[in-house]
Amino acid sequence: MKTLGLIGGMSWESTAEYYRLLNTLTRSRLGGLHSARLVLHSVDFAEIERLQVEGRWDEAGAVLADAARSLEAAGAELLLICTNTMHKVADQVQAATSVPLLHLADATAEAVRAAGVRRVGLLGTAFTMEQDFYRGRLASGGLDVLVPQADSRALVHRIIYEELCVGLVREESRASYRRVIDELVAAGAEGIVLGCTEIELLIRPEDSPVPVFPTTRLHAEAAIDAALAGH
Ligand code: GLU
Repeated sequence: MKTLGLIGGMSWESTAEYYRLLNTLTRSRLGGLHSARLVLHSVDFAEIERLQVEGRWDEAGAVLADAARSLEAAGAELLLICTNTMHKVADQVQAATSVPLLHLADATAEAVRAAGVRRVGLLGTAFTMEQDFYRGRLASGGLDVLVPQADSRALVHRIIYEELCVGLVREESRASYRRVIDELVAAGAEGIVLGCTEIELLIRPEDSPVPVFPTTRLHAEAAIDAALAGH
């Protein structure tokens, strides 16, 4: 099995879920006491979030590039950035290392296409929903991407940073997300991309009338497929 290198901590609530899923998937593929070979570089999310808000993406990218180099030195053979949003600096991270990066939007687009879905609603941070680095990558993966209206985007974004990233899972927020999902479905979405790694801690398949695509799980599955290829 290849050794995975995780750039995590954004937030650690979802990195913990990556760790659980990568190990669960490895055990279900290999059986017995098998578990995932991985190294984790976990950042202080408060520093990253401040750089995001101030638009200092190059500096945030430099922090993640350093993390990538440390993972390479620790023996990582495949890198994962454990957040959708920070794929904004994926090229900067990839340029810092010769270890291949498994892009979260590519893993997601492939799973959506495999499910026979083309038009998706995208939920995530404002950066992910509004900027091209993620939507554009899904579009180049063959998908039609819808995002919520401005007030719904603000609500989805606020719940991520104020609740999910600090471990709060609230019933009223689940109800709010369900309303946003219903709006996207009414606008034509055939599936919903949970395009923030914490959203699947709140939203389950039964919260949506159309299939949901949980990006933490899809990224973990693609990583285990790649790590065990030819095993
Ligand atoms: N984990 C989230 C994501 O997947 C948001 C936190 C961040 O800004 O990285 O986008």
